[in-house]
Amino acid sequence: MQEPAPSRPVARVLSGIQPSGALHLGNYFGAIQQHVELQETAGGRDHAFYFIANYHSLTTVHDGAHLRALTRGAAIDYLTLGLDPAKATFFRQSDVPEVCELAWMLACCIGKGLLERAHSYKDKTAHGVEASMGLFCYPVLMAADILIYRSTVVPVGKDQQQHVEMAQDMAQSFNAAFGKQVLVRPEWRFSKSPTVPGLDGAKMSKSYNNTIPLFLPDGMTEKQAWKTYFAAIKTDSKGVDDPKDPNDALMMLYRLLAPAEAAEFEPIYVRGGVGYGEVKKRIHVAYEALFAPIRERRAKIAADEAFVEGVLREGAARARAVAQSVMDDVRDVSGIVLAAR
Ligand code: ATP
Ligand code: MG
Repeated sequence: MQEPAPSRPVARVLSGIQPSGALHLGNYFGAIQQHVELQETAGGRDHAFYFIANYHSLTTVHDGAHLRALTRGAAIDYLTLGLDPAKATFFRQSDVPEVCELAWMLACCIGKGLLERAHSYKDKTAHGVEASMGLFCYPVLMAADILIYRSTVVPVGKDQQQHVEMAQDMAQSFNAAFGKQVLVRPEWRFSKSPTVPGLDGAKMSKSYNNTIPLFLPDGMTEKQAWKTYFAAIKTDSKGVDDPKDPNDALMMLYRLLAPAEAAEFEPIYVRGGVGYGEVKKRIHVAYEALFAPIRERRAKIAADEAFVEGVLREGAARARAVAQSVMDDVRDVSGIVLAAR
């Protein structure tokens, strides 16, 4: 598809997910569920772009074999959860290496004060993630991911809102620097659950070691899963009879996994007379009801390597064509010359 002029951009939804660990409930309810819904209304696969952000994962994963396995795992998860390659363009970030080129060009048009205000960088370093230049510059690469496809809508969790706003600033700074409207302003969009809490009550994050994965690690039994995840959700010391907070982490998770049941249960929880252990059991049951039925589908997709790789290869070709067309404009306006192709 020929990219139209930036003054009249095509509507394009774009979002990515890092293969920095196993995908979890926060990724699903905060992002993937909405990605799958949007592929139905976006208007076809030229209008819905989803990618696996493997360059971003280098901020936390420094083991090649592990990153390859996580990247593949994220692709399999997405396809299992309903991503339809006939309705969306699905690809690996690294199959469009031009994003790294655009990231450099954007970095040359912004002040470093913009990045110093990033909440995510502060949160991650406070959680012990190494303060590398990559982590500091993460919002620039993310802006390049968004702007290189002239994306108009970016469905994300709340933690990424500021990064999309930075991408807006960077588009404006680049256009202002070269005096031409080349890059398009994207808008963020939240799902119904923009912040899913983790086992410790903080935002569920792959890099915070507080996740409930969508698919259990190989060989983990239901009993082990109960002990590792559900029984481990942090609570305060309220007793069975004490009234409880309907907006605590337990109720938030229960509401996501089984909304109707949770609504019915809430008055009892608020009144008192039920212990935290009971809710944890209910959450575990609801989790199994939602994810156990699709484990077999995941195993089938995982066994079909050619299918998974074919989807990613085809998606990459479509995404890269758009990126190259935008980069032609970006290089043209900035005076960066390549030998004729
Ligand atoms: P990392 O810890 O490596 O940053 P992550 O768990 O935060 O990983 P990302 O790959 O950074 O996951 O985010 C992918 C998408 O999932 C983004 O749109 C992000 O906003 C969303 N997301 C991540 N965690 C949550 C959460 N706890 N609640 C809601 N949305 C989330
Ligand atoms: Mg994150």
